[in-house]
Amino acid sequence: MRAAGELTAAALAETRRLLAPGATPLELDAAAERVIRDGGGIPNFQLVPGYRHTLCVSVDDDVVHGIPGDRPFRAGDIVSVDGGAELDGWNGDSAFTVVLPDVARPDVVASREELSRVTEQALWVGIAALARASHLNDVGAEIEDFVRGEGAYGILTDYVGHGIGRSMHEEPPVFNYRVDRRGPAVKPGLVVAIEPMIVAGSIDTFTRDDDWTVTTSDGADAAHWEHSVAVHAGGIWVLTAPDGGAAGLAPFGIRPAPIG
Ligand code: MG
Ligand code: MG
Repeated sequence: MRAAGELTAAALAETRRLLAPGATPLELDAAAERVIRDGGGIPNFQLVPGYRHTLCVSVDDDVVHGIPGDRPFRAGDIVSVDGGAELDGWNGDSAFTVVLPDVARPDVVASREELSRVTEQALWVGIAALARASHLNDVGAEIEDFVRGEGAYGILTDYVGHGIGRSMHEEPPVFNYRVDRRGPAVKPGLVVAIEPMIVAGSIDTFTRDDDWTVTTSDGADAAHWEHSVAVHAGGIWVLTAPDGGAAGLAPFGIRPAPIG
């Protein structure tokens, strides 16, 4: 799955490079598709029944599953980009959030950047938990403890992470919060997409009229970060991070182990 993860990372890196005021989600979508197809892959979001795009692009109060459109990004937007590639029958899935600069609204930008920082750090807390966990649901418990300590944030419960492999979405679910079951044992061969979705208000959401875009009911901002992570005999490896997760895991004293 390393190659599928690397191709996913390359596609998202290209969208991140292009993400600026005036650019459009559809332009990012086209660029991501180009990277994936040039790399011999298939945009796996296009394999989801009814979905025609390579990315989901979710702005401001849209949390996830935003359909790329032609409305240009604006200064101050908080933008989450989610994408994945299937390569040689294996899948990658990853997401990131950025806040576009806005000199006119420094307070809005600061609070949105803090939301994204907490969400990204929640992802790394979850990945570090996976490296040490005996059972998968330890991941959600540690994410919840971390987020609760950061302030008045909500952890979405309508959507969770998932196993990933021959299909993008597989069992088991990966919760971003504490549940009353331990979940499956963490052992070599387990590959999961960990993806905290954090909001600056209520966790109530609704789906817009486009039948895809998930939006906060109270209009609060949302952020979303995701990596696909493999547990193997030597340790863990973050498949959709170019460095295998070395930088993100260093503060936890964990060194990712290359596969094979
Ligand atoms: Mg995703
Ligand atoms: Mg996912």
